[in-house]
Amino acid sequence: MKRIATIAEMKAACRQVARTGKTLGFVATMGALHEGHLSLVRASESRCDVTAVSIFVNPLQFGPAEDLDKYPRTLERDAALLEQLGADFLFMPGVEEMYPQGAQTYVLVEELSNKLDGASRPGHFRGVATVVAKLFEIVRPDFAFFGQKDAAQVAVLRKLANDLDMDVEIVVCPIVRERDGLAMSSRNAYLTSEQRQQALVLHRSLLRVQTAVEQGEHDSAKLIEIGKQAITEEAGARLDYFAIVDPDTLDSVADVSRGALVAVAAYVGATRLIDNILVTASPQ
Ligand code: AMP
Repeated sequence: MKRIATIAEMKAACRQVARTGKTLGFVATMGALHEGHLSLVRASESRCDVTAVSIFVNPLQFGPAEDLDKYPRTLERDAALLEQLGADFLFMPGVEEMYPQGAQTYVLVEELSNKLDGASRPGHFRGVATVVAKLFEIVRPDFAFFGQKDAAQVAVLRKLANDLDMDVEIVVCPIVRERDGLAMSSRNAYLTSEQRQQALVLHRSLLRVQTAVEQGEHDSAKLIEIGKQAITEEAGARLDYFAIVDPDTLDSVADVSRGALVAVAAYVGATRLIDNILVTASPQ
């Protein structure tokens, strides 16, 4: 695996892949890699000839009161994992490389960026869209792999790629969970063992909604109440949002008969966690 820190060198390496006619897959991460990230790398490797992974903790997507400084950084361990997995390129630029003094261009997916996590984290999706647009231009991947874990991010990035006519296919991979159901996240490292238990309430709330749907409840307002009630029962958790939306527009849907994204965000201690499921009302 080749480690690359400059944009010029990464472009040269990726253009060389394109010239040889091989397909290039790309996985963008902020590091502190876990099985969720690795599942994306494996998906890329099974679909593409060459796989590039980036590790960049993007300051532009963190709010002023958020965890940019304490975000876990485990570069050597991450590089070893990617090497083992057989990734071809690891792009790990510094902040100055990605945002040199004087940069003043941003990418904003206007409406979607204000929904779900965007409503709670002003500026977050502008930061995500800007860095991903830059990474896509540097790498020019044929396929880019993202996790369903960040469902709102998926909607924003699909729109970005479509609106800007990018030649990249966005592939969405399922949420990887711990054995007890907790969605894997780099931020789980912040949790104490007590909070780790409390954090299970996110998945539990989604399962309750899923069960209710399976039992015939299709009314989103009622389903949201069921989900919120589950969160309330865990004193260690504080709800940010519980929403039932169209997975592409992120607009609320009144009932789930035609399928919907059920998404939750909650704080456990100071740590903000998210999770979601896609529900289908009709039997599969
Ligand atoms: P991050 O490092 O948090 O920016 O995440 C990088 C990529 O990994 C994003 O596409 C995430 O959606 C994806 N990802 C993070 N956690 C998981 C998970 N538990 N399962 C699947 N994909 C994930």
